[in-house]
Amino acid sequence: MLNNQGRPTTPAAANSNTHRTFTGNKALMVEEPLSFETGRYDLTGVDLPAPKKVKSRLGKMKRKSEIGIPALSEPETMRHFVRLSQKNFGIDTGLFSLGSCTMKHNPRLNERMARLPGFADIHPLQPVSTVKGALELIDMLAHWLKTLTGMGAVAMSPKAGAHGELCGMMAIKAAIAARGEGETRKIVLVPESAHGTNPATAALIGFIVKPVPADVDGTVHMDEVKKLMGPDVAAIMLTNPNTCGIFEKDIIAIAKVVHEAGAYFYCDGANYNAIAGKVRPGDLGVDAMHINLHKTFSTPHGGGGPGSGPVVLSERLAPYAPVPFVRLTAKGLELVEDAAKAGKGMKPFGRMTAFHGQMGMFVRALAYMLSHGADGIRQASEDAVLNANYIRASLADVMSLPFGNQPCMHEALFDDAWLKDTGITTLDYAKAMIDEGYHPMTMYFPLVVHGAMLVEPTESESKASLDLFIATLRDLAISAKKGETERFTGAPYHAPRRRLDETRAARSPILKWSPPAPIAEAAE
Ligand SMILES: *Cc1c(COP(=O)(O)O)cnc(C)c1O
Repeated sequence: MLNNQGRPTTPAAANSNTHRTFTGNKALMVEEPLSFETGRYDLTGVDLPAPKKVKSRLGKMKRKSEIGIPALSEPETMRHFVRLSQKNFGIDTGLFSLGSCTMKHNPRLNERMARLPGFADIHPLQPVSTVKGALELIDMLAHWLKTLTGMGAVAMSPKAGAHGELCGMMAIKAAIAARGEGETRKIVLVPESAHGTNPATAALIGFIVKPVPADVDGTVHMDEVKKLMGPDVAAIMLTNPNTCGIFEKDIIAIAKVVHEAGAYFYCDGANYNAIAGKVRPGDLGVDAMHINLHKTFSTPHGGGGPGSGPVVLSERLAPYAPVPFVRLTAKGLELVEDAAKAGKGMKPFGRMTAFHGQMGMFVRALAYMLSHGADGIRQASEDAVLNANYIRASLADVMSLPFGNQPCMHEALFDDAWLKDTGITTLDYAKAMIDEGYHPMTMYFPLVVHGAMLVEPTESESKASLDLFIATLRDLAISAKKGETERFTGAPYHAPRRRLDETRAARSPILKWSPPAPIAEAAE
């Protein structure tokens, strides 16, 4: 690679190779410097007409130095960003085995629908009379979500799962306050296997979090819930299927205990893609549940896109749903923005977002639902579970399962017991997967399992792609057990960068770019 001073640099990966290249590039794997390194400051990539002379009012504030934005020609700019985009591992380039995140295929149809000008080009401050179609889409999606979950109401505006949790817990808080118990019900029960956003959400709005220990089979035990339940408990936050990939079989009984004690049942619905079309959370006694549209209904969170976390609410919590919401009146659909005009019996706790939610995500989610149909959504859930079990069963003899070889839901959880005495850790194993062209599974989560490896294939992988993935993991596992330690502890060997010092990067990050030393100095 030549940097801006025309000085070749030495990328580690390229030069550890016997076939050294001058540029540091390895065929299509091109070393990409920062635009600040390749750009020139005395040029510009665009031609703008010279500005008219104006009398400056900046006085002493007038800048003396150049603005410092690098200039690149159009092809240089394009190549820079296209190459950067190619360094991402994405669902479009390979199987994404991350568990708990559901990186599923985002059909191109969704993208086409989201780009329709009537959806893509509207502005949230446009007069409502000009966006009736968008309101209808929000209303139709809300209807699907309520029907699928068997719940009375849905707040569409939260912008991701964690935001939805906040919305649901704020509705619970408002309901408790309305009963005059705001000062006495302060405790929220959260199982140890929960996603970190659950306790964080509860703590953020002033609840005291109490962990519920996991049972030997990875689920929450009724007796533990009973022990902790009391008049001081506001809610339980339960994930189902839980983060170990197991369905909480006592869920109805737990909901009963929770309700009898006067508390609410918040369900983390991030794993809803295992049961959508099969189970209605409303029938399980859930009071509030967020749905990660970007996990369950195939919008591109995995590609770094925005999330969307509508929250379905039971009849008991529906009055507290935040504004804005869409309402059907005799005159058609209207947008309720003002809490005071929310209607009889409605007591919105407030507002979560400036506008109405993630419109692009709504379009994608509805496109996904309509193209699948009710039976298709059910099949997607069944296939997600089937695929995860295929992986579990195909690897059970070479890797270890913390809760025994029992069927899982949409993700298969392994631990690191099988790596004992090999000198190889979960992290090493995951790094070796990178050399094989796979994005590693979720590691060290959930925390209740030692050296956890959580694999979620989703429904969208074919048998052939699962077979290759399984064969790769088997080959790695057998190699680890044979003592081929270097394949793991030194991995990745083939990535543009080798293993990074992640601890140091987190503890003492260098966040400021400094220009390279001038060429004369460097030559000495
Ligand atoms: C992803 C996830 C969340 C948070 O959702 P975001 O959309 O990332 O905010 C919460 N709980 C579980 C179990 C999750 O997997």
